[in-house]
Amino acid sequence: MRVIQVKYNKLLSDLIDRSNNIVLVCHHNPDGDAIGSMVGFNRYLEHLGKPAVMVSPNSIQDFLLWMKGTESIIVSEKEPGKAVKHIREADLIIMLDFNSIDRSGNIKNHIRTSDARKILIDHHPDPDIDVDLLISEPQFSSTAELVFLLVNKMDDKFCIDKQFMEAVFVGMMTDTGNFSFGTFNGDTLRKVAVMLDNGLDKDSIVSNVYDNFLINRLRLQGFATYERLVYLEEHSTAYIYLNRADLQRFRHKVGDTEGFVNIPLSVKGIILSALFIEKEDHIKISLRSKGDFNVNTFAAEYFDGGGHKNAAGGRYAGTMNECLEYFEKLLGKLEELKS
Ligand code: 5GP
Ligand code: MN
Repeated sequence: MRVIQVKYNKLLSDLIDRSNNIVLVCHHNPDGDAIGSMVGFNRYLEHLGKPAVMVSPNSIQDFLLWMKGTESIIVSEKEPGKAVKHIREADLIIMLDFNSIDRSGNIKNHIRTSDARKILIDHHPDPDIDVDLLISEPQFSSTAELVFLLVNKMDDKFCIDKQFMEAVFVGMMTDTGNFSFGTFNGDTLRKVAVMLDNGLDKDSIVSNVYDNFLINRLRLQGFATYERLVYLEEHSTAYIYLNRADLQRFRHKVGDTEGFVNIPLSVKGIILSALFIEKEDHIKISLRSKGDFNVNTFAAEYFDGGGHKNAAGGRYAGTMNECLEYFEKLLGKLEELKS
C-alpha cells in the first residue's frame, strides 16, 4: 500500500513557509516527468504566492515546450550566470525526479555547496543526495504522480487547477508510456480520474506531446528500425544504434529519438532493449527491460548510469563500435545478470 507519511506534508509546508527564494531543479536531459513535476510544483508555489525560479541543466525537448510554465525555465547551459545567481541566492532548493546529484549536470557543484535548505522529491530507487527532507517513493510510477499526491494533501482544492493538472498529467502519462508500463496502478488511475472529472483536456495534451513532430523524425524512426536495429534472438535482446551522421542526415532535433528504445520491446520474446546514440564525446545509452531483468543495476554497473528496474540509462566513453562490442559481450553474461 502506498501510504504517504503524514509528516511529509507538515515538513514540506513548513520548509516552504520559511523560505522566500525557492529554486526548483530537474535533471539533465529532462523528460516529460522532470518538466511536468517541476512546472506543476511551481504552479502550486505560485498559488501560495511564492513562485520559484525553475532551472533545467540543459535544453528542453520541443514536444514539451507547449506546456504553460516552461517559458520561464532557465536553461543553465544557455544562461549559466543567471542560473548560478539564483542558486546562490536560494534559501530552499527543491530537486525533482533524480536520485543522484550527478544528474543535475553543470549545476551540481553549485547545488552541493549551497547553504540553502534542500528537498528531494523523487521516485528513483536508492537516493544518494544530501538533503534536509527526503521524499523518495520508488513505488510511484512518476515523480509527477507523487507531486499530485503531496500537493493534494497540502491543499486538495488546488489540485484541479488547469495548469497544474496539465503539467502533472504529462509526467504521469510519459513516464508510464501512456499507462502501459512501470509501476502505475489503481491509485495512479484514480488520480487521473479526478483530473478528468475536473476538466483535464487529455486529447489536446496527448496531441501536443505525440503529434507535433516534423516528418524527418518519422523517417528517422523508419531508418532506425530498418537499418540500425540489431536483433539478437539468442539473448532475447534487440538494440538500435544511431551514429552522428545518421542523425545529421535526418536533421535530427533534441527529442527526436525519445521513445525509440521502446520499439524493439514490441518483438515477441524480447526482454532487453537498448538504444545507443552517438554524442560528441560519448555514447548515450537507454535501456528498457521486461520482467525481472534489472537495467538499473546493469546501467550502474557497466555504463556509469542508473534509473529504474525496467527503464534506465547511462553512457560509454568510446566509439560506437567499441560500445556495441562491449554490450554484446556483456550479453553473454545475461543469464547470470538476470538472477
Ligand atoms: P531514458 O532512457 O529515457 O533517458 O531514461 C530512463 C531512466 O533512466 C530515467 O529514469 C532516467 O532518469 C534514468 N537515466 C537516464 N540516463 C541516466 C544516466 O546517465 N544516469 C542515471 N543515473 N540515470 C539515468
Ligand atoms: Mn520520472
